Amino acid sequence: MNVLVINAGSSSLKYQLINVETQDVLAKGICERVGSHEAFHKHGIDENEVVHDTPMPDHNAAMALVLEALTTGSTKAIDSLDEIDAIGHRVVQGGKYFDRSVLIDDDVIAKIDELAELAPLHNKAALMGIEACKQQMPGKPMVAVFDTSFFQSIPPKAYMYPLPYELYEKHAIRKYGAHGTSHRYISERAAAFMDEPLEDLKLITCHLGNGCSISAIDHGVAVDTSMGLTPLDGLMMGTRCGAVDPAIVPFIMEKENLTTAEVNDLMNKKSGLLGISGISNDLRSVRQASEEGDERAQLAYDMYSNSVKKYIGQYIAVMGGVDAIVLTAGVGENCDKMRRMIFAGLQPLGIKIDLEKNKLRGHEREISTDDSTVRIVVIPTNEEYMIARDTYQLVKEDGMGL
Ligand code: AMP
Repeated sequence: MNVLVINAGSSSLKYQLINVETQDVLAKGICERVGSHEAFHKHGIDENEVVHDTPMPDHNAAMALVLEALTTGSTKAIDSLDEIDAIGHRVVQGGKYFDRSVLIDDDVIAKIDELAELAPLHNKAALMGIEACKQQMPGKPMVAVFDTSFFQSIPPKAYMYPLPYELYEKHAIRKYGAHGTSHRYISERAAAFMDEPLEDLKLITCHLGNGCSISAIDHGVAVDTSMGLTPLDGLMMGTRCGAVDPAIVPFIMEKENLTTAEVNDLMNKKSGLLGISGISNDLRSVRQASEEGDERAQLAYDMYSNSVKKYIGQYIAVMGGVDAIVLTAGVGENCDKMRRMIFAGLQPLGIKIDLEKNKLRGHEREISTDDSTVRIVVIPTNEEYMIARDTYQLVKEDGMGL
């Protein structure tokens, strides 16, 4: 049973063809700079990757190229499009409408469009991906998997902002969260790895990549998360500032004479690790510079780890304890130094990292000491598989040919 997973950005189209039963990735790739003269298409897995500079005026043209690569020539993974059973689309904003993944119909498309007000670039891009699939593969069942739906269980005391209530009523301003598919996946996998029912566990899940978010998951139910109305809130990230004193925004707009678009750009693209270190948003470069004595790189490291540490404390308080802390994504999975710094000094809370286990690489693994009352586990995330699995289940339940 093969599901084509599509993650459409405003100028990109990422895809994976996944056999849901075996979890094998049959093919994957990305079309980048769609709509520009510099468009290119990368297709293949690891050393078999091929890159072509190819004109792609829009997402529809990109999708046509993807389907051609999947079915013809040296890149071929399947004989014909009939071997694609269904399509799963990543959609960033599901707002209040979607607390789970859904089969796509006209009403779902209209709601994704309506919600574009909250995530203009992302939801419009997802719609372009959906439209391209409709044109290239008419009648193929499609499912929307939302980044926000896992967090619809968060209670009002955590999702409301202490602003005038009318703003919530008029503009739906509240916390929605993001990275929900990743948090859902790693919470399920962590419970399986620990051989405990998810419904018995209090988990803090940390997605630490270029984008960063952290969630409190109480007995399988998300009760809080660090990203807010948009993915700018919460932890310090690669280029995003995360939570700052909101009064800073009008202050810098006035002092630096910035427009709303410029201040938005500054907080989303020029802040975080990049803004503090002045070197890079890539933690590997920041790490190297800090080890060579660069003080701002070290400060960036210290701030990033401190930002995660503070949220861990908050979420222990929110849930009245924690059984396990789960780490994932580029930094969470790979950076032993950052993990060591995050957990340094948390022994009084029963959280003890094993410094030897922390250095080991591998797949799903535990890095806490045997006497740590809170377990620390590293789980590589797999959002694409989760999208494929949701798609498969919904299409099967609906009896649409699987
Ligand atoms: P992601 O968004 O999940 O792809 O994560 C990207 C982030 O992970 C970047 O900041 C990378 O520098 C970081 N990263 C990946 N591998 C390592 C590593 N071995 N050590 C430190 N950071 C890493």
